[in-house]
Amino acid sequence: MRIATIGGGPGGLYASLLLKRSSPELDVTVFEKNPRGATYGWGVVFSDRTLTSFREADYRSYVDITEDFVIWDAIDIRYKGELVRAGGQVFSGIARRKLLDILIERCIAVGVTVRFETEVVSADLGDCDLVIAADGIHSGTRESRATVFKPRIREGRARYIWFGTTLALDSFTFIFRANDHGLFQVHAYPFDGTTSTFIVECSEQTWRNAGLHEASETESIAYCEKLFAEDLRGNPLMSNQSKWISFPTLRTKTWIDSSAGVVPTALLGDSAHTAHFSIGSGTKLAMEDAIALVNAFEDRDAAQGDPAALRAALADYQMERKPIVERFQEAAKQSQSYFESTSRYQDLEPEQFVFHLLTRSGRMDYGDLRQRDPYLIEHVDRTFAARSGGPEDAVVAPPPVLVPFDLGDVRLDNRVVLSPVFAGTSVDGVLAGPDREALVSALGAAAGLVLTDEIAVSAHGRVTPGDVGLYDDVQTQAFRGLLQRADRVAARLNHAGPRGATKPRATGLDRPLDSGAWPLVAASPVAYGHNATPAELDARTRAEIREDFTTAARNAERAGFDAVVVEMGRGYLLGNFLSPLTNLRDDELGGEARARMRFPLEVFDAVRAAFGGPVGASICADDWQRGGARPDDAVALVDELHTRGCRLVEVTAGYTTPRFRPHLDPFYLTVLSEQIRNECGVPTLIGGGITTTDRINTLLGGARADLCILRRDP
Ligand SMILES: Cc1cc2nc3c(=O)[nH]c(=O)nc-3n(C[C@H](O)[C@H](O)[C@H](O)COP(=O)(O)OP(=O)(O)OC[C@H]3O[C@@H](n4cnc5c(N)ncnc54)[C@H](O)[C@@H]3O)c2cc1C
Repeated sequence: MRIATIGGGPGGLYASLLLKRSSPELDVTVFEKNPRGATYGWGVVFSDRTLTSFREADYRSYVDITEDFVIWDAIDIRYKGELVRAGGQVFSGIARRKLLDILIERCIAVGVTVRFETEVVSADLGDCDLVIAADGIHSGTRESRATVFKPRIREGRARYIWFGTTLALDSFTFIFRANDHGLFQVHAYPFDGTTSTFIVECSEQTWRNAGLHEASETESIAYCEKLFAEDLRGNPLMSNQSKWISFPTLRTKTWIDSSAGVVPTALLGDSAHTAHFSIGSGTKLAMEDAIALVNAFEDRDAAQGDPAALRAALADYQMERKPIVERFQEAAKQSQSYFESTSRYQDLEPEQFVFHLLTRSGRMDYGDLRQRDPYLIEHVDRTFAARSGGPEDAVVAPPPVLVPFDLGDVRLDNRVVLSPVFAGTSVDGVLAGPDREALVSALGAAAGLVLTDEIAVSAHGRVTPGDVGLYDDVQTQAFRGLLQRADRVAARLNHAGPRGATKPRATGLDRPLDSGAWPLVAASPVAYGHNATPAELDARTRAEIREDFTTAARNAERAGFDAVVVEMGRGYLLGNFLSPLTNLRDDELGGEARARMRFPLEVFDAVRAAFGGPVGASICADDWQRGGARPDDAVALVDELHTRGCRLVEVTAGYTTPRFRPHLDPFYLTVLSEQIRNECGVPTLIGGGITTTDRINTLLGGARADLCILRRDP
């Protein structure tokens, strides 16, 4: 059986080596267009976990690689003139050139033919049984069959350039330096005793401000050497055809082509996928792809030349590896977006900044860091507590989740919020049945704050007939009886707008009532899913609804609520006004963002005037729908709310219309929350499936939110 590998990078070489070693009868040839030793780049980083899989795959190359390693166990972060070291982070570095040399030698030793200075296209390889296309990010194989592989490339928003330096570092080092042009960051790591990789990155704007878009290689070096003179300590930056580029993240729909009439082909490494360099994993991914491909070969006995076995092996390879790589790409995306917006975090204190940086991709959390470097986490705890009024030099400080929070002048004992979900078992708007039990259970659970589910401000503002309300005395007294013995409770006041008059949630979301429906109102006559088409809100009803919110806020105060949150998201009436998808008005309440905010802000002001305690708002920070409101709209809204005395913003997303496309990654709210919190200076609350206090500590410690809704098992 003949196998041709296009590309003599780490992925192609390792796959060829492992295949030949596993099945010596295979005829394996690597074609590399460049001469031997002509490689770009400097060093490659591996984590200790990656090395375990290399040891199992081929012990000889593992020994050769690890013998050449530079190993370190710390990450240094230089920020605002301070150096913070995070210990317990074991990584190893090796020169890319050295790694390739080891793999080439090993390929030759096991009998792989390696042909340098031989550029091939897959069409030249018709006499082979399998083509492994390991021809890198610019893969000609992939592009020539783009209709099969369906690649998608997304260019990053930042610019970076890859240098080497003779500065011998002893840790993975991040450096952040600002000048008049903007903020620059460096990702630097050692890879032999005398040289380190030194990647400089900045935003597109900073790059242009500095004139680097017009600079030659020499001018770029001179600029960076001057900017980082203190860090480089007299060492020069070295170039290797270095250019400023944007990082291309590549995803491909399929990695294999087994169609009739072509030689079966598998993409591998950078030709199939890329992941931002800040999690240092491109080479690791390529080599792990190689391991998976060879394992699939062995499992299916594909080396015997049976075409069906080969097809099955390729399918296994893709099924095994693709989901793993996609998870990696998700983490890399978080890391990349962090580095694309670091200027947002410039106001953070050094320890907060460092904690945020280390937990950016979600692969490490508070608990992991505590294990790796307890001293660092104690420092994080102490400074977090001190910022909230604790002593600066406390011997012992609580973790962030247990640090009190001042919601206006209401002190919460801890940062956990419980928000029981109501099923719609109230009677005539009076809390009753399982909904009452759910609230009672939350009240007894020692959370910092209990935030109710939606409480209707009028009978016509209910979502379902079983919704609780605060529009009459009986409802108010029912709450009062409960809250007399409770600690900290906030009422979420809502008018359902176009999502009203539906059946109980247990029968499914947004299913219109068969009978007894009440008339619906909205910004514009746009139906929510299968609901009836609402009437466009007129001036009289608008005044009535504002009055309903005022009355409900007064009732909330009489009932003993400590705070009120005005619902402005989830597709309900106020959120419906804010989105361009649902507000199509051409009067003073529609049109550009500021006009769309007018009515929701009027309501907010009315509630503020009626309620003596702190008032917050729940907002939709991203409609997740083409043409909908985006995070920048949310920032503008929260800026307005801030000037009106808003004390807390609950950040949600989606549901403005039922046609939104949910983001399923675990960070979806975190990213929005930290943008709002750090740009607008208003404390934020997030939920979205947070089930552990470890996760809450990670979010709070990294200044991503101030309060978190903990989801408890029912
Ligand atoms: C700034 C930066 C920093 C990085 N840092 C790290 C890091 O710290 N750690 C890490 O693991 N990874 C890192 N990477 C990623 C790493 O460089 C790649 O992900 C890795 O080399 C992928 O290996 P590969 O074998 O798939 O592709 P490549 O290494 O790109 O190899 C592809 C090979 O195919 C050859 N080729 C292409 N077309 C043909 C053809 N038609 N015929 C013959 N030969 C052909 C090319 O010459 C090349 O040698 C970094 C990348 C960047 C940009």
